Amino acid sequence: MSTIGFIGLGIMGLPMSKNLLKAGHKLIVCDLNKVAVEELKQAGAEVGESPRDVASRADIIITMLPNSPQVKTVVLGKNGVIEGAKKGSIVVDMSSIAPLVSREVSVALAEKGIRMLDAPVSGGQPKAIDGTLSIMVGGEQADFDEIVPIFKAMGSSAVLTGAIGAGNVTKLANQIIVAVNIAAVSEALVMATKAGVDPELVFKAIRGGLAGSTVLDAKAPLMLDRKFNPGFRINLHIKDLANVLETTIRSVSRCHYLLPLWRYCRRSRWTAWASSTMERLSGSTRSSPR
Ligand code: NAD
Repeated sequence: MSTIGFIGLGIMGLPMSKNLLKAGHKLIVCDLNKVAVEELKQAGAEVGESPRDVASRADIIITMLPNSPQVKTVVLGKNGVIEGAKKGSIVVDMSSIAPLVSREVSVALAEKGIRMLDAPVSGGQPKAIDGTLSIMVGGEQADFDEIVPIFKAMGSSAVLTGAIGAGNVTKLANQIIVAVNIAAVSEALVMATKAGVDPELVFKAIRGGLAGSTVLDAKAPLMLDRKFNPGFRINLHIKDLANVLETTIRSVSRCHYLLPLWRYCRRSRWTAWASSTMERLSGSTRSSPR
């Protein structure tokens, strides 16, 4: 069994780290939220003083943080992972962040002989609890093969989709599909209700057809029961879409092709709002894309 450092014990990180404990791994944890740290301590984890301390006591360091700036701070900042990690150890960043930042962080780690995989997840809190997440990975094949047993404790599938950053590119593709799907399901059920048809019957009628989807099956029953408890913070959803825009902007400048979603966002009022959010969340000072 491995000695694993786990940094970021939020909605996702808390159940993921508990599953690693259940699988028999030794865990050293750290988070700004002392309540979450105490919960993990009670479950059997050791507590690290800082990301540096966690990294110095582990061979594998997993991060599950909100976005790119937090990953940069925790991994590369003062008292960060890079200051404590041993040569040959491996950082597995499971946060959903900008692919370019994954590449940037991996280059800085490589200079110290530290390996990295980017391994964001899909499935939300229920699948994090069940240990059935879908894990999308970028990095070297040998590093991926080494971490597969760890992924198995947290997910039902782990697929290497390319070099470092490819995991987060895959996650962004996932988020485009999920975000558009959630919006479509919401609008469809509201439209049916306003037009006088029972939305529950609409759901039953369409779920086996072409409109059927995992999002429809997961979200429609909650909407019908008027249960709107958040499982994913809306600012994280906005962050993912802002990362889609940022990645698209950088990619389209190379291939001169505008994705329809990007074209729509550019034309809509949402652009200004998304651009400013993107800049705020990524810490970028770049002006709005044209
Ligand atoms: P969260 O906000 O609940 O948890 C993030 C944790 O990171 C918090 O406990 C916070 O205290 C900690 N943290 C932040 N900065 C820190 C620092 N400098 N040092 C130590 N700890 C720090 O977020 P979450 O919902 O668990 O999501 C984590 C990541 O997983 C995000 O990138 C998100 O987009 C992604 N994700 C979330 C879901 C979901 O349904 N919640 C699903 C798939 C992927």
